[in-house]
Amino acid sequence: MEYNTQTRQMIMDLIAKNPDRIFKASDVARKLPNISLSTIYRNLSRLEKSSIVQIVGAEENNELQYRYTGPGSCESKMHLVCKDCGKFFHLEGPALRILQHSVARLNGFELDNQQSVLLGHCASCKRRRK
Ligand SMILES: [Zn+2]
Ligand SMILES: [Zn+2]
Repeated sequence: MEYNTQTRQMIMDLIAKNPDRIFKASDVARKLPNISLSTIYRNLSRLEKSSIVQIVGAEENNELQYRYTGPGSCESKMHLVCKDCGKFFHLEGPALRILQHSVARLNGFELDNQQSVLLGHCASCKRRRK
């Protein structure tokens, strides 16, 4: 029990230190080589259930990608995530307000900023692709 709690804390600390990055179980395994991959998978799914991390998508090989949504994560901003390099960008200010208002007007739907992630390709990755 002791050991389990400690392991989960180590994984959580690592993630919380990089709040604006996408990561996969294999990334955590590289940083914490003493913890087995199956333990990391198990802990990530626990953290996901308690809303400390959020699944933002899967790579082509179906490995799940997570991001930190626990205490201290950016709250009033929506995140744009580049599928190529994993970088996060913040959507805030007028652009976010326009998006919220049009969605609310058209669908009567209230967006959850902290939980929402828009996936795409960032400017520098788009340039590199050409
Ligand atoms: Zn952020
Ligand atoms: Zn990018």
